[in-house]
Amino acid sequence: MLRIAIQKSGRLSEQSLALLAESNIEFGGHGRALLAQSKNFPLEILYLRDDDIPQCVYDGVADIGIVGEDVLQEKNYALNIVERLGMGKCRMSLAIPKSVVYNDLKWFNGKKIATSYPRVLGNFLQSNNIAAEIHEISGSVEISTTIGLADAIFDIVSSGSTLVSNGLKEVETVLHSEAVMVSQKEGLTEDKQLIINDLLFRLRAVQKGRQYKYILLNVPTKNVDKIIDVIPGSKSPTVVPLAQEGWSSVHSVLPENDFWKIIDQLKKLDAQGILVMPIEKMIL
Ligand code: ATP
Ligand code: ZN
Repeated sequence: MLRIAIQKSGRLSEQSLALLAESNIEFGGHGRALLAQSKNFPLEILYLRDDDIPQCVYDGVADIGIVGEDVLQEKNYALNIVERLGMGKCRMSLAIPKSVVYNDLKWFNGKKIATSYPRVLGNFLQSNNIAAEIHEISGSVEISTTIGLADAIFDIVSSGSTLVSNGLKEVETVLHSEAVMVSQKEGLTEDKQLIINDLLFRLRAVQKGRQYKYILLNVPTKNVDKIIDVIPGSKSPTVVPLAQEGWSSVHSVLPENDFWKIIDQLKKLDAQGILVMPIEKMIL
């Protein structure tokens, strides 16, 4: 049995659970006990505050955990990053009141900065030779300048709208963060390592599937070669003749990111009846 620590409630909890659910790892549906065992995979979930996850994994209370890199760096336990999960993406930035003129980092010399991430900020300031005062608070960092607690803040930003609504502007990005799976550096039994490998195999298949769409389209047979050039495909697309003379059906996969651009090119090559489907899992 492997134990994974995930956030009890917050920005990473639903996404972490969804990743496990899409990997067909099922948990009983009743509420959230502190500890929940899967019915069909040797995994149990330990629900924690995200701040406690690095230490729990370090101490071996949990074998692995899902946590943001921001928290990981702040807590600074020596852990292995087993996998980057591509979710919970955000950045950590310095922000100041929007009316203040800002030229460069030197502005922060002698200033007071409010944050819940004193270590990450301290390291950044030190490596840039800035002497500022760090004021640690545990929440509502974004109102610190308005209430006169600090001259600037250092916090997580995703869209930036929270900053704007608090009269702040982002002036320096310090760190980009996403959710990662972590494990202890050593000390995992071979059994547990095998379960981790199984789990990773599933998670990767789900993540890969999320990055692509399955596509079916009808095209004039004379354009098939050009269409194949446009579709990157996983290997080469499947081409099947249609009952109607001169037409073929092409099946392939498209990266989610290039999707609309490619569809546009396909339409120009007279593609018709384009069907696009989500891919549940993709194993290459
Ligand atoms: P907990 O109660 O577990 O301590 P929390 O309030 O500290 O929760 P959340 O706000 O739920 O934490 O954020 C958890 C993680 O989600 C962050 O550490 C960060 O990695 C990630 N994240 C992604 N986008 C955002 C965002 N816009 N704001 C805050 N965190 C974000
Ligand atoms: Zn937290």
